Amino acid sequence: MSIFRRKLHNLTHPLLGRILMLHRVVEHRSEGENRELEITPEFLRRTIETYRQQGHRFVSIDEACDIISNGRTNHPFVCLTFDDGYQDNYDIAYPILKQMEVPFAIYVTTGFIDNRIPIRWYPNEKLGINTEYLKTMDADPLCTIGAHTVSHPKLDNLSPQEQQKEIEQSLQELESILGHPIHHFSYPHGAYNADTLKIVNDCHFISTLRAWGGSIRKGDATLLELPRIELKEP
Ligand SMILES: [Zn+2]
Repeated sequence: MSIFRRKLHNLTHPLLGRILMLHRVVEHRSEGENRELEITPEFLRRTIETYRQQGHRFVSIDEACDIISNGRTNHPFVCLTFDDGYQDNYDIAYPILKQMEVPFAIYVTTGFIDNRIPIRWYPNEKLGINTEYLKTMDADPLCTIGAHTVSHPKLDNLSPQEQQKEIEQSLQELESILGHPIHHFSYPHGAYNADTLKIVNDCHFISTLRAWGGSIRKGDATLLELPRIELKEP
């Protein structure tokens, strides 16, 4: 798209907001490849303050979906989403989000709960969230829990039957732990195909999230392929 066409598009498709993708919040970031999955508490606070100073409003994933469906908002929204289900989301991020009154969503890979299966990219650490802490956050109106499969596969590498099992089982496990319906899902690695879309549609998710794609403008996004922006600390 040319710059002119992009400007025209932006005028006719005003900015609604952005969904930020986060993973871990840690006091000391790793040195290796996992570093970009990690932000510090200071960076989280600063990000929230900066968006607020710029007139953005932090909303839950449900409210973000309402705004996207209605196609209008007075202030661009920001929605914080944490993928995978790390214990540090409770230990470090949650106290900050509670203190600053910021809604957030956590997309949990159910195999990682209580470290029932290892997190492949952190082979020597037990970082999965404990069931009781997950329940504590779920009981807070600021928090929404979503599903993120059972074992964190690249769904587009799996048969439709295997995909269905990964998605439905994670949904059922979360619903049985938390005792209420789960309405949101994020694609591990941002990977999905036409079969995945059919399955998430049949599961009646309100929204499903990609791992890339930028901000959300009026008329640009469907709720089953919502774009996100990865929040990266320099
Ligand atoms: Zn993930």
